[in-house]
Amino acid sequence: MIFFYGTGSSCVATEPLPGLACAHCGTRDSLTCSVFSRYLKLMFLPVFPIGKRSVTVCRHCQQTLTGKALPEAYRAPVQAVQSRARTPIFHFAALLLVGALAAFIFAVGWFGPARMASAALPQASFAAETAGAHYRIDAAPSGVPYILAGVTRVTPDSVYCNMSNPLRGPLSAASAAQALRDSVASNGARGFTAAEWHAATTAPGPFKRVD
Ligand SMILES: [Zn+2]
Repeated sequence: MIFFYGTGSSCVATEPLPGLACAHCGTRDSLTCSVFSRYLKLMFLPVFPIGKRSVTVCRHCQQTLTGKALPEAYRAPVQAVQSRARTPIFHFAALLLVGALAAFIFAVGWFGPARMASAALPQASFAAETAGAHYRIDAAPSGVPYILAGVTRVTPDSVYCNMSNPLRGPLSAASAAQALRDSVASNGARGFTAAEWHAATTAPGPFKRVD
């Protein structure tokens, strides 16, 4: 079976930025901010979100700005719109399917004869997880771009990761640490349940451990 990874995005919010003047033409109350949620997809099905990107547009002069190009005055209101924008549940579609399947297998195993074997399976890889571990997620068959996941915290029921933005350069311990640090502001930390973590990190899941 061939697995095909890629990235996609969809607009999850558009709001005006009242009181701000356009940095290009100076017109007041002409700016709107659109928030795009990006996701990793597997066989055209979104697996999980990897971050948000906000784009401002001036209705008067059509200037479009995003990322580091956003003027200082835009940043706080843009961040507010971005924080309000919810990631749609369908961006987790594949993980939800896998999670539901794992829960089903778990339930069958729990109540059936294979009780011990099935119940132990997701917990085994979960318990072995440690903060500081890095995973590489190839977003295309060529391996470029790729995304890094850095485990920040492991609790009895969740693994938390910082997810980097898509990367293209060579991977080293230093570049990995830098990319994950840069991603915290835009992507935040993402929690995985035991079933999701098991599905993501066990072949043919998308997460490959980097040492
Ligand atoms: Zn303008």
